[in-house]
Amino acid sequence: MPVYKAPLEDMRFVLNDVFGAPEIWARMPQMSEVTRDLADAVLEEAARTTEGLLLPLNQRGDEQGCRREDGTSVRTPDGFRDAFRTFAENGWTSLAGNPEYGGQGMPKMLSVLFEEMLHSTNTAFALYPILTNGATLCLDAHASEELKERFLPKLYSGEWCGTMCLTEPHCGTDLGIMRTRAEPNEDGSYSITGTKIFITGGEHDLTDNIIHLVLAKLPDAPAGSKGISLFLVPRNHVNEDGSTGERNGVECGSIEEKMGIHGSPTCVLNFDGARGWLVGEPHQGLPAMFTMMNYERLSIGLQGLGLGEVSYQNAVDYARERLQGRSANGPVNPEGNADPIIVHGDVRRMLLTMRAFNQGGRALSSWVGMQLDIAKFHEDAEAREKAAQRVALFTPVAKAFFTDRGLDTCVIGQQVFGGHGYVREWGMEQYVRDARIAQIYEGTNGIQALDLAGRKVARNQGAWVRDFLADARGWLAEQKDVQGMEPVRAPLETALQWLEEATESLLAQAGENPDATNALAVEYLDLFGLVTYAWLWARMIAAVDGRDDDFARGKRITGRFFYERLLPRGESLLAQIRAGSATTMELDAEAF
Ligand SMILES: Cc1cc2nc3c(=O)[nH]c(=O)nc-3n(C[C@H](O)[C@H](O)[C@H](O)COP(=O)(O)OP(=O)(O)OC[C@H]3O[C@@H](n4cnc5c(N)ncnc54)[C@H](O)[C@@H]3O)c2cc1C
Repeated sequence: MPVYKAPLEDMRFVLNDVFGAPEIWARMPQMSEVTRDLADAVLEEAARTTEGLLLPLNQRGDEQGCRREDGTSVRTPDGFRDAFRTFAENGWTSLAGNPEYGGQGMPKMLSVLFEEMLHSTNTAFALYPILTNGATLCLDAHASEELKERFLPKLYSGEWCGTMCLTEPHCGTDLGIMRTRAEPNEDGSYSITGTKIFITGGEHDLTDNIIHLVLAKLPDAPAGSKGISLFLVPRNHVNEDGSTGERNGVECGSIEEKMGIHGSPTCVLNFDGARGWLVGEPHQGLPAMFTMMNYERLSIGLQGLGLGEVSYQNAVDYARERLQGRSANGPVNPEGNADPIIVHGDVRRMLLTMRAFNQGGRALSSWVGMQLDIAKFHEDAEAREKAAQRVALFTPVAKAFFTDRGLDTCVIGQQVFGGHGYVREWGMEQYVRDARIAQIYEGTNGIQALDLAGRKVARNQGAWVRDFLADARGWLAEQKDVQGMEPVRAPLETALQWLEEATESLLAQAGENPDATNALAVEYLDLFGLVTYAWLWARMIAAVDGRDDDFARGKRITGRFFYERLLPRGESLLAQIRAGSATTMELDAEAF
């Protein structure tokens, strides 16, 4: 069975030494009770739960998958139901929830680290609480007081789960053309009719009710995405006393056979006059749903990161044990007939690539978590606004860059195992299969890139990126006395310059050619991600300055590897962006 130990030392380092989380929490009244000790205790307990409860169910869940029973109900893999109950009873479904309705109000900066552990140990299981958390966030922000009081406590307690119902057979990316309809009833509720597909956790046996958040169109809806409204539709009606009642008009038509995340059912849901309630204002469903989608995007990014981490840990173990060939510098295991493969330069390249992307990603996820906390809880309105801008700018980067690098990392981990990585026994191929979906759902990575290049950069003429670049340069200027920064100072200046030039080039091309943004967005996001990691690696190197222990040495060497072997790809991405989109758009559709 694959092994996993939550990387607690690195998590604490990022929280405390790189970002000074406890000092930031102390300045926010809602977070002021979260001390370093409390955060430590939460992380340790999270590690115990994920390693002890979820990891042992991961391979079995993959092999068994979810099964349909009695026509419509769905049975999860053996052990999932009990594990979910324990998980909920121990408070993990309410970690970052609003305390007014039963949540624990923990900072997002902390809960992203917990979500990384969830995905490392059992990504299929993780999707149930993560979708539920997203639903609670959306309801907390947009639902009426009555709906909040009725539904939030049971979602936080894990008695009920939540889903997100957007996709239809003919519409995924382009939700404006959806057909699901909502007819108003006299009692203030709505009757929802239509078919949703690919709904994660749309039906299962973990809880006695499932609360669907459904996008649909009212009869007077304007055409396109401005005519979408959001509805809360419980699978089972809720009785006056809050208990679960009869079935509502929604049924699971089928579940998909798919490449990975077998422990998570992907459902066709047929709504046939199901009774639901409007959440937020009519025709404002898409912006409201974005509260959930932005949360899910970061969480799905963490799927890539978490799987990359567990793949790395297993690859390191294997590389230390597996004996093949001799070290180029003479035997390191003269008693044996071969040396462990960790002596070979190419195996080290693979392990360091995984390590550099995982640790860079962990720093970015915590930093985005910190921006989310500041945007919500900081006392100063200007600080809140700036942090909200950063969240908007970096959410697509985190989702796409984490999941692209996450799949790369899982493939590299599989490669370290040679042929043993391709067979089921070692578990490495499951990580590749489980990671792949994260590039597709929650908006494909191509759409994330478009969101970044179009809505977050072109729409404000690059103002948000320039603001970020100014802050990063300001930080670098303050580090002039930090000795350990010397090897990375000039390359970081160059990398920030690449991002600036790529942004100016993209803006200039977009002004002249309507296809440019769409055609160049993926390279732009890739460059954005690399430069962001360069800045964060510099921050990590600065944070270990003056230390000479193993952890600090490991950070410095991994950081240098990132700068020497991975960051230079940024220069070719800049060249790709400058090459423009004309050739991409030249070939006639019939000629492909
Ligand atoms: C396992 C699984 C679980 C899922 N869970 C959920 C869920 O819980 N809830 C839910 O609502 N949905 C869910 N989905 C649906 C998922 O979010 C969509 O599949 C995804 O957003 C893409 O939509 P699509 O499949 O219709 O592809 P399409 O929108 O048809 O896209 C096809 C290709 O065209 C590209 N493309 C489309 N439009 C553009 C454009 N304007 N510019 C550039 N490129 C474009 C896309 O990037 C993609 O590569 C799930 C899907 C799967 C497979």
